[in-house]
Amino acid sequence: MIVMKFGGTSVESAAAIERVAGIIRPRFEQRPLVVVSAMGKTTNKLLAAADKAAAGNLADALRDAEDLRGFHRTEAGKIIPTESASTMELVLENNFEALETTLEAIATAGQITPLLWDEVCSYGERLSSALVALALPAFGLPAAHLDARSVLITDSRHTQALPLYSRTYSRFKEKAVPLMQGRVVIMGGFIGATADGVTTTLGRGGSDFSAAIAGAGIGAEEIQIWTDVDGMLTCDPRVLPGGHLVKNISFAEAAELAYFGAKVLHPATVQPAIEKNIPVRILNSRRPEVAGTLIVADNVECRNSVKSIACKRDITVVNIRSLRMLMAHGFLRRIFEVFDRYRTPVDMVSTSEVSVSLTIDQTQYLADIEAELSKIAEVTVVPNQALICLVGDALRETPGIAKRIFSALETVNIRMITQGASLLNVSVVVDGADLVRGVEALHQEFFRDLDPEVFQ
Ligand code: ADP
Ligand code: ASP
Ligand code: MG
Repeated sequence: MIVMKFGGTSVESAAAIERVAGIIRPRFEQRPLVVVSAMGKTTNKLLAAADKAAAGNLADALRDAEDLRGFHRTEAGKIIPTESASTMELVLENNFEALETTLEAIATAGQITPLLWDEVCSYGERLSSALVALALPAFGLPAAHLDARSVLITDSRHTQALPLYSRTYSRFKEKAVPLMQGRVVIMGGFIGATADGVTTTLGRGGSDFSAAIAGAGIGAEEIQIWTDVDGMLTCDPRVLPGGHLVKNISFAEAAELAYFGAKVLHPATVQPAIEKNIPVRILNSRRPEVAGTLIVADNVECRNSVKSIACKRDITVVNIRSLRMLMAHGFLRRIFEVFDRYRTPVDMVSTSEVSVSLTIDQTQYLADIEAELSKIAEVTVVPNQALICLVGDALRETPGIAKRIFSALETVNIRMITQGASLLNVSVVVDGADLVRGVEALHQEFFRDLDPEVFQ
Protein backbone atom coordinates (compact mmCIF):
# COMPACT_ATOMS: atom_id res chain seq x y z
CA MET A 1 0.00 0.00 0.00
CA ILE A 2 1.09 3.56 -0.66
CA VAL A 3 -0.31 6.98 0.24
CA MET A 4 -0.51 9.62 -2.49
CA LYS A 5 -1.30 13.18 -1.40
CA PHE A 6 -2.30 15.80 -3.96
CA GLY A 7 -2.13 19.46 -2.91
CA GLY A 8 -4.51 22.28 -3.86
CA THR A 9 -2.95 23.13 -7.22
CA SER A 10 -2.81 19.44 -8.16
CA VAL A 11 -6.65 19.25 -7.94
CA GLU A 12 -7.49 22.84 -8.88
CA SER A 13 -9.54 22.04 -12.00
CA ALA A 14 -11.06 19.27 -14.12
CA ALA A 15 -7.82 19.11 -16.13
CA ALA A 16 -5.73 18.85 -12.97
CA ILE A 17 -7.93 16.02 -11.61
CA GLU A 18 -7.59 14.22 -14.94
CA ARG A 19 -3.79 14.50 -14.56
CA VAL A 20 -4.14 13.06 -11.05
CA ALA A 21 -6.05 10.08 -12.46
CA GLY A 22 -3.24 9.60 -14.99
CA ILE A 23 -0.71 9.53 -12.15
CA ILE A 24 -2.73 7.08 -10.03
CA ARG A 25 -3.47 4.62 -12.86
CA PRO A 26 0.04 3.15 -13.28
CA ARG A 27 0.28 2.84 -9.49
CA PHE A 28 -3.07 1.09 -9.00
CA GLU A 29 -1.39 -2.25 -8.27
CA GLN A 30 0.46 -0.62 -5.37
CA ARG A 31 -2.95 -0.03 -3.73
CA PRO A 32 -2.98 3.73 -3.20
CA LEU A 33 -4.84 5.59 -0.48
CA VAL A 34 -5.26 9.08 -1.94
CA VAL A 35 -5.37 12.20 0.24
CA VAL A 36 -6.54 15.41 -1.43
CA SER A 37 -6.47 19.06 -0.43
CA ALA A 38 -9.25 21.52 -1.17
CA MET A 39 -9.43 22.49 -4.86
CA GLY A 40 -7.15 25.45 -5.72
CA LYS A 41 -7.64 28.41 -3.42
CA THR A 42 -10.88 27.13 -1.85
CA THR A 43 -9.64 27.28 1.77
CA ASN A 44 -8.69 30.96 1.42
CA LYS A 45 -12.04 31.69 -0.20
CA LEU A 46 -13.95 29.95 2.59
CA LEU A 47 -12.04 32.03 5.12
CA ALA A 48 -12.74 35.23 3.20
CA ALA A 49 -16.47 34.39 3.26
CA ALA A 50 -16.24 33.66 6.98
CA ASP A 51 -14.59 37.07 7.56
CA LYS A 52 -17.43 38.78 5.75
CA ALA A 53 -20.03 36.89 7.79
CA ALA A 54 -18.26 37.79 11.03
CA ALA A 55 -18.17 41.45 9.99
CA GLY A 56 -21.93 41.40 9.48
CA ASN A 57 -22.00 41.04 5.69
CA LEU A 58 -23.86 37.75 5.55
CA ALA A 59 -25.28 38.47 2.09
CA ASP A 60 -21.75 38.90 0.66
CA ALA A 61 -20.58 35.77 2.45
CA LEU A 62 -23.45 33.74 0.99
CA ARG A 63 -22.65 35.11 -2.47
CA ASP A 64 -19.05 33.87 -2.06
CA ALA A 65 -20.43 30.47 -1.11
CA GLU A 66 -22.57 30.52 -4.28
CA ASP A 67 -19.46 31.31 -6.35
CA LEU A 68 -17.67 28.36 -4.78
CA ARG A 69 -20.64 26.12 -5.52
CA GLY A 70 -20.55 27.24 -9.17
CA PHE A 71 -16.80 26.61 -9.39
CA HIS A 72 -17.07 23.08 -7.93
CA ARG A 73 -20.07 22.21 -10.10
CA THR A 74 -18.41 23.48 -13.29
CA GLU A 75 -15.09 21.69 -12.76
CA ALA A 76 -16.53 18.44 -11.39
CA GLY A 77 -19.30 18.48 -14.01
CA LYS A 78 -16.69 18.27 -16.78
CA ILE A 79 -15.34 14.91 -15.60
CA ILE A 80 -17.91 13.15 -13.41
CA PRO A 81 -19.69 10.51 -15.55
CA THR A 82 -23.41 11.01 -16.23
CA GLU A 83 -24.42 8.01 -14.13
CA SER A 84 -23.01 9.83 -11.08
CA ALA A 85 -24.45 13.27 -11.92
CA SER A 86 -27.27 13.02 -9.40
CA THR A 87 -24.87 11.88 -6.65
CA MET A 88 -22.70 14.89 -7.49
CA GLU A 89 -25.70 17.21 -7.11
CA LEU A 90 -26.44 15.62 -3.74
CA VAL A 91 -22.84 16.11 -2.57
CA LEU A 92 -22.97 19.78 -3.62
CA GLU A 93 -26.39 20.32 -2.05
CA ASN A 94 -25.48 18.74 1.29
CA ASN A 95 -22.16 20.52 1.63
CA PHE A 96 -23.31 23.96 0.54
CA GLU A 97 -26.44 23.83 2.68
CA ALA A 98 -24.25 23.02 5.68
CA LEU A 99 -21.75 25.73 4.70
CA GLU A 100 -24.56 28.30 4.59
CA THR A 101 -25.69 27.25 8.05
CA THR A 102 -22.11 27.66 9.29
CA LEU A 103 -21.81 31.14 7.75
CA GLU A 104 -25.09 32.09 9.42
CA ALA A 105 -23.75 30.85 12.76
CA ILE A 106 -20.61 32.99 12.26
CA ALA A 107 -22.76 36.03 11.46
CA THR A 108 -24.86 35.44 14.59
CA ALA A 109 -21.75 35.01 16.76
CA GLY A 110 -20.18 38.11 15.17
CA GLN A 111 -16.85 36.27 15.22
CA ILE A 112 -15.13 33.16 13.91
CA THR A 113 -14.61 31.03 16.98
CA PRO A 114 -11.93 28.30 16.61
CA LEU A 115 -14.72 25.70 16.37
CA LEU A 116 -16.43 27.62 13.56
CA TRP A 117 -13.08 28.21 11.83
CA ASP A 118 -12.57 24.46 11.63
CA GLU A 119 -16.13 23.87 10.51
CA VAL A 120 -16.03 26.49 7.76
CA CYS A 121 -12.60 25.41 6.45
CA SER A 122 -13.56 21.74 6.39
CA TYR A 123 -15.90 22.08 3.40
CA GLY A 124 -12.98 22.48 0.98
CA GLU A 125 -11.63 18.98 1.65
CA ARG A 126 -15.09 17.46 2.20
CA LEU A 127 -16.03 18.58 -1.31
CA SER A 128 -12.78 17.85 -3.13
CA SER A 129 -12.50 14.31 -1.75
CA ALA A 130 -16.13 13.40 -2.53
CA LEU A 131 -15.92 14.86 -6.05
CA VAL A 132 -12.57 13.26 -6.93
CA ALA A 133 -13.97 9.89 -5.78
CA LEU A 134 -16.92 10.37 -8.15
CA ALA A 135 -14.65 11.39 -11.02
CA LEU A 136 -12.04 8.60 -10.92
CA PRO A 137 -14.27 5.84 -12.42
CA ALA A 138 -14.48 7.96 -15.59
CA PHE A 139 -10.75 7.32 -15.96
CA GLY A 140 -11.00 3.58 -15.41
CA LEU A 141 -10.29 3.67 -11.68
CA PRO A 142 -12.74 2.09 -9.24
CA ALA A 143 -12.89 4.44 -6.25
CA ALA A 144 -14.43 4.88 -2.82
CA HIS A 145 -14.77 7.97 -0.65
CA LEU A 146 -13.60 7.83 2.96
CA ASP A 147 -14.73 10.62 5.29
CA ALA A 148 -11.51 11.66 7.07
CA ARG A 149 -13.56 12.52 10.14
CA SER A 150 -14.44 8.88 10.64
CA VAL A 151 -10.80 7.79 10.88
CA LEU A 152 -8.59 10.74 11.85
CA ILE A 153 -9.54 11.23 15.51
CA THR A 154 -8.02 14.28 17.18
CA ASP A 155 -7.96 16.21 20.41
CA SER A 156 -10.20 19.28 20.57
CA ARG A 157 -7.54 21.96 20.02
CA HIS A 158 -9.50 23.57 17.25
CA THR A 159 -7.48 25.07 14.35
CA GLN A 160 -4.39 23.07 15.39
CA ALA A 161 -5.66 19.70 16.48
CA LEU A 162 -3.33 16.76 17.05
CA PRO A 163 -4.26 13.16 16.28
CA LEU A 164 -5.00 10.68 19.04
CA TYR A 165 -2.60 8.24 17.44
CA SER A 166 -3.62 4.84 18.75
CA ARG A 167 -7.33 5.41 18.10
CA THR A 168 -6.61 6.91 14.71
CA TYR A 169 -4.35 4.06 13.67
CA SER A 170 -6.89 1.44 14.69
CA ARG A 171 -9.61 3.26 12.74
CA PHE A 172 -7.40 3.27 9.65
CA LYS A 173 -6.85 -0.47 10.01
CA GLU A 174 -10.55 -1.17 10.62
CA LYS A 175 -12.06 1.20 8.07
CA ALA A 176 -9.56 2.28 5.44
CA VAL A 177 -7.68 -0.96 4.74
CA PRO A 178 -10.79 -3.11 4.00
CA LEU A 179 -12.16 -0.36 1.76
CA MET A 180 -8.91 -0.42 -0.25
CA GLN A 181 -9.57 -3.89 -1.72
CA GLY A 182 -9.63 -3.33 -5.49
CA ARG A 183 -10.47 0.36 -5.10
CA VAL A 184 -8.66 3.65 -4.84
CA VAL A 185 -9.76 5.20 -1.55
CA ILE A 186 -10.00 9.01 -1.54
CA MET A 187 -9.88 10.94 1.69
CA GLY A 188 -9.81 14.69 2.39
CA GLY A 189 -6.65 15.99 4.03
CA PHE A 190 -6.43 18.62 6.78
CA ILE A 191 -9.63 17.60 8.58
CA GLY A 192 -10.46 15.22 11.39
CA ALA A 193 -12.94 14.99 14.24
CA THR A 194 -12.89 14.64 18.00
CA ALA A 195 -14.01 11.35 19.54
CA ASP A 196 -17.44 13.02 19.90
CA GLY A 197 -17.57 13.70 16.16
CA VAL A 198 -16.92 17.46 16.22
CA THR A 199 -15.00 18.56 13.09
CA THR A 200 -11.41 19.72 13.67
CA THR A 201 -8.47 20.70 11.45
CA LEU A 202 -4.72 20.11 11.72
CA GLY A 203 -3.74 23.71 10.82
CA ARG A 204 -3.05 25.39 7.47
CA GLY A 205 -1.13 23.18 5.09
CA GLY A 206 -2.23 20.19 7.18
CA SER A 207 -3.01 17.79 4.32
CA ASP A 208 0.65 16.69 4.26
CA PHE A 209 0.26 15.79 7.93
CA SER A 210 -2.94 13.83 7.13
CA ALA A 211 -1.03 11.89 4.49
CA ALA A 212 1.70 10.97 6.95
CA ILE A 213 -0.84 9.93 9.59
CA ALA A 214 -2.72 7.84 7.01
CA GLY A 215 0.54 6.25 5.85
CA ALA A 216 1.48 5.31 9.40
CA GLY A 217 -2.10 4.12 10.06
CA ILE A 218 -2.29 1.68 7.16
CA GLY A 219 1.41 0.74 7.29
CA ALA A 220 2.17 2.15 3.83
CA GLU A 221 5.39 1.35 2.01
CA GLU A 222 5.79 4.94 0.86
CA ILE A 223 4.12 8.33 1.26
CA GLN A 224 4.09 10.46 -1.88
CA ILE A 225 3.49 14.22 -1.60
CA TRP A 226 2.46 15.39 -5.09
CA THR A 227 2.74 19.15 -5.48
CA ASP A 228 3.60 21.90 -7.98
CA VAL A 229 7.42 21.82 -7.80
CA ASP A 230 9.93 19.08 -8.66
CA GLY A 231 10.69 18.40 -4.99
CA MET A 232 12.66 20.06 -2.23
CA LEU A 233 14.77 22.76 -3.88
CA THR A 234 17.93 24.40 -2.57
CA CYS A 235 15.98 27.62 -1.99
CA ASP A 236 12.38 28.81 -1.86
CA PRO A 237 11.46 29.36 -5.55
CA ARG A 238 9.18 32.28 -4.69
CA VAL A 239 12.11 34.10 -3.09
CA LEU A 240 14.83 33.01 -5.51
CA PRO A 241 14.04 31.02 -8.66
CA GLY A 242 16.60 28.66 -10.17
CA GLY A 243 17.48 26.50 -7.15
CA HIS A 244 18.64 22.90 -7.63
CA LEU A 245 16.62 19.81 -6.84
CA VAL A 246 17.68 18.05 -3.63
CA LYS A 247 17.49 14.35 -4.48
CA ASN A 248 17.86 12.85 -1.00
CA ILE A 249 17.36 14.38 2.38
CA SER A 250 17.12 13.00 5.90
CA PHE A 251 13.94 13.25 8.00
CA ALA A 252 15.77 15.53 10.44
CA GLU A 253 16.88 17.92 7.69
CA ALA A 254 13.43 17.95 6.09
CA ALA A 255 11.82 18.70 9.44
CA GLU A 256 14.12 21.69 10.02
CA LEU A 257 13.49 23.02 6.52
CA ALA A 258 9.72 22.66 6.84
CA TYR A 259 9.72 24.33 10.23
CA PHE A 260 11.80 27.24 8.98
CA GLY A 261 9.60 28.03 6.01
CA ALA A 262 9.94 25.44 3.24
CA LYS A 263 6.20 25.36 2.64
CA VAL A 264 6.56 22.38 0.31
CA LEU A 265 6.10 20.18 3.39
CA HIS A 266 4.02 20.79 6.54
CA PRO A 267 6.32 20.91 9.60
CA ALA A 268 4.60 18.06 11.44
CA THR A 269 4.47 15.75 8.44
CA VAL A 270 7.55 13.75 8.94
CA GLN A 271 6.89 12.75 12.55
CA PRO A 272 4.47 9.83 12.00
CA ALA A 273 6.56 8.72 9.01
CA ILE A 274 9.78 8.73 11.07
CA GLU A 275 8.20 6.63 13.79
CA LYS A 276 7.19 3.94 11.33
CA ASN A 277 10.26 4.40 9.14
CA ILE A 278 8.19 5.07 6.01
CA PRO A 279 10.01 6.93 3.21
CA VAL A 280 8.37 10.15 2.01
CA ARG A 281 8.77 11.30 -1.58
CA ILE A 282 7.98 14.81 -2.88
CA LEU A 283 6.89 14.75 -6.54
CA ASN A 284 5.60 17.15 -9.19
CA SER A 285 2.06 16.42 -10.47
CA ARG A 286 2.82 18.42 -13.63
CA ARG A 287 6.05 16.51 -14.30
CA PRO A 288 5.45 13.03 -12.85
CA GLU A 289 8.49 11.65 -14.68
CA VAL A 290 10.90 13.63 -12.46
CA ALA A 291 12.26 11.49 -9.60
CA GLY A 292 11.60 14.19 -6.98
CA THR A 293 13.05 14.27 -3.47
CA LEU A 294 13.27 11.20 -1.30
CA ILE A 295 13.14 11.77 2.45
CA VAL A 296 14.68 8.89 4.36
CA ALA A 297 15.40 8.01 7.97
CA ASP A 298 19.16 8.03 7.85
CA ASN A 299 21.46 10.82 6.93
CA VAL A 300 22.51 10.72 3.29
CA GLU A 301 26.12 11.39 2.29
CA CYS A 302 26.31 14.69 0.46
CA ARG A 303 29.34 16.50 -0.82
CA ASN A 304 27.69 19.84 -0.10
CA SER A 305 27.61 20.85 3.57
CA VAL A 306 24.42 22.87 3.06
CA LYS A 307 21.44 20.96 1.64
CA SER A 308 18.98 23.81 1.33
CA ILE A 309 18.21 27.36 2.45
CA ALA A 310 14.77 28.02 3.94
CA CYS A 311 13.36 31.38 4.83
CA LYS A 312 10.43 33.04 6.52
CA ARG A 313 9.19 36.57 5.92
CA ASP A 314 7.28 38.75 8.37
CA ILE A 315 9.16 37.65 11.43
CA THR A 316 8.96 39.75 14.57
CA VAL A 317 11.88 40.02 16.96
CA VAL A 318 11.03 40.55 20.62
CA ASN A 319 13.89 41.85 22.77
CA ILE A 320 13.43 41.38 26.50
CA ARG A 321 15.90 43.14 28.74
CA SER A 322 16.18 43.00 32.47
CA LEU A 323 19.24 44.25 34.30
CA ARG A 324 18.10 42.88 37.60
CA MET A 325 16.48 39.58 36.86
CA LEU A 326 17.72 37.92 33.75
CA MET A 327 19.90 35.27 35.16
CA ALA A 328 17.74 34.97 38.25
CA HIS A 329 16.24 31.57 38.74
CA GLY A 330 12.86 31.22 37.01
CA PHE A 331 13.07 34.30 34.81
CA LEU A 332 13.27 32.47 31.49
CA ARG A 333 10.43 30.24 32.60
CA ARG A 334 8.28 33.31 33.28
CA ILE A 335 9.06 34.69 29.84
CA PHE A 336 8.21 31.48 28.03
CA GLU A 337 5.08 31.01 30.08
CA VAL A 338 3.73 34.23 28.62
CA PHE A 339 4.26 32.98 25.04
CA ASP A 340 2.80 29.64 26.01
CA ARG A 341 -0.32 31.17 27.52
CA TYR A 342 -0.98 33.03 24.26
CA ARG A 343 -0.16 29.91 22.21
CA THR A 344 2.53 31.74 20.27
CA PRO A 345 5.40 29.55 19.11
CA VAL A 346 8.92 30.92 19.51
CA ASP A 347 11.22 30.05 16.61
CA MET A 348 14.65 31.32 17.54
CA VAL A 349 16.18 32.36 20.87
CA SER A 350 19.45 34.01 21.79
CA THR A 351 20.54 35.31 25.18
CA SER A 352 23.10 37.67 26.65
CA GLU A 353 23.88 38.60 30.22
CA VAL A 354 21.00 41.05 30.41
CA SER A 355 18.68 40.25 27.56
CA VAL A 356 16.86 37.58 25.62
CA SER A 357 15.92 38.04 21.97
CA LEU A 358 13.45 35.76 20.32
CA THR A 359 11.51 35.56 17.11
CA ILE A 360 7.85 34.80 16.48
CA ASP A 361 5.82 34.64 13.29
CA GLN A 362 2.32 34.75 14.78
CA THR A 363 1.55 38.22 16.03
CA GLN A 364 -2.13 37.79 16.83
CA TYR A 365 -1.54 38.18 20.59
CA LEU A 366 1.56 40.35 20.42
CA ALA A 367 0.00 43.34 22.22
CA ASP A 368 -1.07 41.11 25.14
CA ILE A 369 2.29 39.40 25.26
CA GLU A 370 4.10 42.73 25.25
CA ALA A 371 1.89 44.06 28.04
CA GLU A 372 2.51 41.01 30.22
CA LEU A 373 6.26 40.96 29.62
CA SER A 374 6.49 44.66 30.37
CA LYS A 375 5.52 43.89 33.96
CA ILE A 376 8.81 42.04 34.47
CA ALA A 377 11.24 43.53 31.93
CA GLU A 378 11.90 46.19 29.32
CA VAL A 379 10.46 45.03 26.00
CA THR A 380 11.09 46.20 22.43
CA VAL A 381 9.45 44.77 19.36
CA VAL A 382 11.06 44.87 15.90
CA PRO A 383 8.62 43.98 13.10
CA ASN A 384 9.29 43.19 9.41
CA GLN A 385 12.28 40.95 9.93
CA ALA A 386 13.16 37.83 7.97
CA LEU A 387 14.71 34.56 8.96
CA ILE A 388 17.14 32.69 6.72
CA CYS A 389 18.00 29.16 7.73
CA LEU A 390 20.77 27.01 6.25
CA VAL A 391 20.18 23.32 6.78
CA GLY A 392 22.53 20.39 6.34
CA ASP A 393 23.53 17.45 8.46
CA ALA A 394 27.18 18.02 7.61
CA LEU A 395 27.12 21.58 9.01
CA ARG A 396 28.04 20.29 12.43
CA GLU A 397 31.34 18.87 11.31
CA THR A 398 32.35 21.30 8.58
CA PRO A 399 34.79 23.98 9.74
CA GLY A 400 34.59 27.45 8.26
CA ILE A 401 30.82 27.60 7.68
CA ALA A 402 30.32 30.69 9.85
CA LYS A 403 33.11 32.49 8.00
CA ARG A 404 31.45 31.75 4.66
CA ILE A 405 28.06 32.91 5.94
CA PHE A 406 29.47 36.16 7.30
CA SER A 407 31.47 36.95 4.19
CA ALA A 408 28.51 36.20 1.91
CA LEU A 409 26.38 38.52 4.04
CA GLU A 410 29.12 41.15 4.19
CA THR A 411 26.85 44.02 3.29
CA VAL A 412 23.74 42.77 5.09
CA ASN A 413 23.04 43.73 8.69
CA ILE A 414 22.61 40.53 10.72
CA ARG A 415 20.23 41.06 13.65
CA MET A 416 20.46 37.64 15.27
CA ILE A 417 22.36 34.44 14.59
CA THR A 418 21.96 30.99 16.08
CA GLN A 419 23.15 27.49 15.48
CA GLY A 420 20.18 25.24 16.18
CA ALA A 421 20.55 22.82 19.04
CA SER A 422 20.24 19.97 16.56
CA LEU A 423 23.47 21.32 15.03
CA LEU A 424 22.07 20.90 11.57
CA ASN A 425 20.91 24.44 11.04
CA VAL A 426 22.44 27.87 11.21
CA SER A 427 19.91 30.70 11.12
CA VAL A 428 20.22 34.43 10.76
CA VAL A 429 17.66 37.19 11.16
CA VAL A 430 17.94 40.12 8.77
CA ASP A 431 15.78 43.10 7.92
CA GLY A 432 12.83 42.06 5.71
CA ALA A 433 14.11 44.35 2.96
CA ASP A 434 17.41 42.39 2.85
CA LEU A 435 15.82 38.95 2.52
CA VAL A 436 16.13 38.37 -1.23
CA ARG A 437 19.63 39.82 -1.37
CA GLY A 438 20.68 37.69 1.61
CA VAL A 439 19.29 34.44 0.19
CA GLU A 440 20.87 35.18 -3.17
CA ALA A 441 24.29 35.80 -1.64
CA LEU A 442 24.12 32.64 0.49
CA HIS A 443 22.85 30.52 -2.39
CA GLN A 444 25.66 31.81 -4.57
CA GLU A 445 28.21 31.04 -1.86
CA PHE A 446 27.07 27.51 -1.05
CA PHE A 447 25.74 26.25 -4.38
CA ARG A 448 27.94 28.08 -6.88
CA ASP A 449 30.24 25.20 -7.79
CA LEU A 450 27.58 22.58 -7.68
CA ASP A 451 27.18 19.98 -10.36
CA PRO A 452 23.41 19.31 -10.26
CA GLU A 453 23.98 15.78 -11.55
CA VAL A 454 26.16 14.89 -8.59
CA PHE A 455 24.34 16.92 -5.95
CA GLN A 456 22.14 14.99 -3.67
P1 ADP B 1 0.50 22.08 -1.99
O1 ADP B 1 -0.71 22.88 -2.30
O2 ADP B 1 0.79 21.03 -3.01
O3 ADP B 1 0.52 21.55 -0.59
P2 ADP B 1 2.28 24.19 -1.19
O4 ADP B 1 1.99 25.50 -1.81
O5 ADP B 1 1.85 23.97 0.22
O6 ADP B 1 1.72 23.06 -2.17
O7 ADP B 1 3.86 23.86 -1.25
C1 ADP B 1 4.54 23.93 -2.48
C2 ADP B 1 5.24 25.27 -2.58
O8 ADP B 1 6.27 25.32 -1.58
C3 ADP B 1 5.99 25.50 -3.85
O9 ADP B 1 5.14 25.97 -4.88
C4 ADP B 1 7.05 26.52 -3.43
O10 ADP B 1 6.66 27.82 -3.78
C5 ADP B 1 7.10 26.41 -1.92
N1 ADP B 1 8.45 26.19 -1.37
C6 ADP B 1 9.03 26.89 -0.38
N2 ADP B 1 10.28 26.48 -0.13
C7 ADP B 1 10.53 25.48 -1.00
C8 ADP B 1 11.67 24.65 -1.26
N3 ADP B 1 12.80 24.74 -0.56
N4 ADP B 1 11.57 23.73 -2.24
C9 ADP B 1 10.43 23.59 -2.94
N5 ADP B 1 9.33 24.35 -2.76
C10 ADP B 1 9.36 25.29 -1.80
N1 ASP C 1 -6.57 23.20 2.30
C1 ASP C 1 -5.77 23.40 3.48
C2 ASP C 1 -5.01 24.72 3.37
O1 ASP C 1 -5.12 25.40 2.36
C3 ASP C 1 -4.87 22.27 3.78
C4 ASP C 1 -3.83 21.94 2.74
O2 ASP C 1 -3.96 22.34 1.58
O3 ASP C 1 -2.87 21.25 3.10
O4 ASP C 1 -4.34 25.09 4.30
MG1 MG D 1 1.01 22.43 1.32
